[in-house]
Amino acid sequence: MFDTLSDRLNGIFTKLRGKGRLSDADIDATAREIRLALLEADVALPVVRAFIASIKERARGAEVHQALNPAQQVIKIVHEELVGVLGGETRRLQFAKQPPTVIMLAGLQGSGKTTLAGKLARWLKGQGHQPLLVAADLQRPNAVNQLQVLGQRAGVEVYAPEPGNGVGDPVRVASDSIEHARRSMRDIVIVDTAGRLGIDAEMMGQAAAIRDAVTPDETIFVVDAMVGQDAVATAEAFRDGVGITGVVLSKLDGDARGGAALSVRHVTGQAILFASTGEKLEDFDVFHPDRMASRILG
Ligand code: GDP
Repeated sequence: MFDTLSDRLNGIFTKLRGKGRLSDADIDATAREIRLALLEADVALPVVRAFIASIKERARGAEVHQALNPAQQVIKIVHEELVGVLGGETRRLQFAKQPPTVIMLAGLQGSGKTTLAGKLARWLKGQGHQPLLVAADLQRPNAVNQLQVLGQRAGVEVYAPEPGNGVGDPVRVASDSIEHARRSMRDIVIVDTAGRLGIDAEMMGQAAAIRDAVTPDETIFVVDAMVGQDAVATAEAFRDGVGITGVVLSKLDGDARGGAALSVRHVTGQAILFASTGEKLEDFDVFHPDRMASRILG
């Protein structure tokens, strides 16, 4: 995960080792190299600019730490800035005061929404909840079946349109599912919605209609970490078209450069809630900005 970025940053820090004190020229050169490393990791330019400006300012103002040499000080500053760009504190899921809590998943086709629905259901069940999965992705032919398989694996009921009932209306399925959840005492409803390969007005309209029908407590934007800063335009479109309250990074197990992970929080203003790291239901965890920053710095 983010191996290239880790290597680049560590290479930069190695050059600082042994230096007694950092001159302004040293700080500028280091900042330039960090900037390049971030751009190569496909981090969005506004994020890189803010990151570098902050590092320069802090390194110049160098909090004099008796216990730390200059290289360690720079590492500490970069670590703290990484934590900040990844969201600072760990953000927990928000639950409704009156159950059921409704969690809607939105994102492009292939981003990992349906897989995430299964993972989230399994995880919530493990925390003692009684989730209901809702198949409101009626666009992709296999999505309902895929969710049913995942639901079975997770031991969680799946609410889906009756087979043979025509194409079905995803908004209706989603709103009926809330009633079903109330009747069957489910405290969390996870609604899987349709995506397209690219941003599309019809898909966004459908997602907004589902949102209006179920009034979610969390609207989670699922983004494939492999897409790098292409995630930025998609995230903006979902933020503006549907309104999102949180982000999940999927496919962090792949050869991602880090761009999506390091850009999406800044762009959406919303926290990364979970990380998906594989195809299996258990390849999933709460996202901790500080742990991720430590992993990036190796
Ligand atoms: P959806 O179209 O957004 O519902 O996406 P899917 O959940 O169907 O995922 C698309 C593909 O990505 C599937 O083949 C999944 O098995 C795979 N996938 C989903 N999440 C992950 C992940 O975290 N890591 C890996 N390696 N593959 C994933």
